[in-house]
Amino acid sequence: LSLKLEKAFQTLKGQGSITEINVASTVKEIRKALIDADVNFKVAKEVTDEIKEKALGQDVLTAISPGQLLIKITNDELTTLMGGQSEDIRIEGSPAIILIAGLQGSGKTTFSGKLANYLKKQGRQVLLTACDIYRPAAIDQLKVLGEQVGVEVYAEPENKDAVKIAKAAIEHAKKNNHRVVIVDTAGRLAVDEEMMNEIARLKDALKPSETLFVVDSMTGQDAVNTAKAFNDRLDFNGVVLTKLDGDSRGGAALSIRRVVEKPIKFISTGEKMEAIDRFYPDRMASRILGMGDVISLVEKAQMAYDEEEAKRLSKKIRKNQFDFNDFLQQLEQVKKMGNMKDLLSMIPGMGKAMKGVDIDDNSFKPIEAIIRSMTMAERENPDIINGSRKNRISKGSGRSVQEVNNLLKQFNDMRKLMKTMNKMGGGKRALSALN
Ligand code: GDP
Ligand code: MG
Repeated sequence: LSLKLEKAFQTLKGQGSITEINVASTVKEIRKALIDADVNFKVAKEVTDEIKEKALGQDVLTAISPGQLLIKITNDELTTLMGGQSEDIRIEGSPAIILIAGLQGSGKTTFSGKLANYLKKQGRQVLLTACDIYRPAAIDQLKVLGEQVGVEVYAEPENKDAVKIAKAAIEHAKKNNHRVVIVDTAGRLAVDEEMMNEIARLKDALKPSETLFVVDSMTGQDAVNTAKAFNDRLDFNGVVLTKLDGDSRGGAALSIRRVVEKPIKFISTGEKMEAIDRFYPDRMASRILGMGDVISLVEKAQMAYDEEEAKRLSKKIRKNQFDFNDFLQQLEQVKKMGNMKDLLSMIPGMGKAMKGVDIDDNSFKPIEAIIRSMTMAERENPDIINGSRKNRISKGSGRSVQEVNNLLKQFNDMRKLMKTMNKMGGGKRALSALN
C-alpha cells in the first residue's frame, strides 16, 4: 500500500467523527434525494433526523468524509427500515387464497397474472378468479393473461356478487386440484366506501392467507394515504409496488412501510408477465437514495481499513505484543460487524480464554468498561497493575475487583496461549486467515 493510502486509513481523533456541523449539508442533500424519490415529506424528515441522531459521534475513516459516511449509514438504515430482508408470500390453506386489493389502474389484474405465472413456475396448481364485476372488459383482460401464462381463469360474467363468485371459485379449485386461488378484485379511481365494503366483505368471507395491497409507485405522495386507508379497513399482509420500470425511484416503498408497517413483498417492473420480482430492501434503499457511487466508495474504504487492521493485529500477535488496546479495537470492529462470534473467530485462542462468557454483545460491556478504566500504560502492559490500581479500576468501571482480576487472568491466559501457538508455528497458520 502506498504511504498516502496508509495515512488515509488512520482515523483522525476528534475531527474524524460525525457532528451536526460537518454533515449539515449532507443531511439536506439526503432529505432532498428522498423527496425526489417520492418519499413522503414527513417521513423523509423524520427518517433523516433519526438517522443523523444515531450517526452523531461515529468515527470516520480519513479516506472518506463525514458526509459520505452518513450517506452509507443512511443507506443501511433505509434497508433496515424497509424490513432488512425480503419477505416471501404466504401460501397456506387448501387451497391457499390470495386476495388482491388496490385502486383502479394500480396494476392489480396485471399483477394477478404475473403472480399466477410466478407461482406456477414454482410448480403450483393455480386458479385465477375474476371478481371485478363492474367492468366486463376486466374479465376478458384476466382471461387473456391467464391464457398467456397457461393458468385457468374462473369467471361468472352474469353474477354481480363478488363474494359468491370467489366462493364458487374456491369450490371449483377444490374439485380440480388447484392449490392456490388468486382473487383479482375491482378498484375505484379513489378510495370510496362501496369499494372498501366490498373488499372487506371478500376478506371476511374468504379468510385469505395473503391479502396484498397493490399500489402504483408513480402516485408518489398519494401512495401513503391510499395505503393507510386500505390498511385501516383491511389490515392487509403485504404490499405490491408496481410500475417501477418508470421514472419512479420507489420512495413509496419507504413511506408505506413506515406508515402502515407492512412488508413490501413484490415489485412489478413492466407489462410483461415475467416482469415481477421479490422485494429486496437493500436494492430499493440504493435506488431511493440514488448515491451508489458514494456508498461503494465508503464500503471499499471500510473494507481496506478492516484488512489493514487485521494485518496489524496478526503482526502484533506474532510478536507477542497483543495488548488491551488491540483487544478494545477488536471489540469496536466487531461492534461494527454486529456480531460477537466474529471476534472470537478472528483471535486465535480467544474461544478458550473466554470460556463461560455468553457470546452476545452485552456480555462484553463489563469487559469494555474495565479496560476503559485502565490507563494507556496499563492497557499496553497489564503486568504493572497492582492491588491499589485494581481497586481504582474496579471503582472506575463499576465492576467488582473479582471481575477485574478475572479479566486480567483470562487475558494473561490468552496471551500465553498465543505465545505457545506462535512457538509451535501453528499460530502463523491460524493467523494466515487474517492476511
Ligand atoms: P388494475 O385496474 O388495478 O387491475 O390495473 P391493470 O392491471 O389493469 O393495469 C393498469 C395499467 O397499468 C395497464 O395498462 C397495465 O398494462 C399497466 N401496468 C400494470 N403494471 C405495470 C408495470 O409494472 N409497469 C408498467 N409500465 N405498466 C404496468
Ligand atoms: Mg383490474
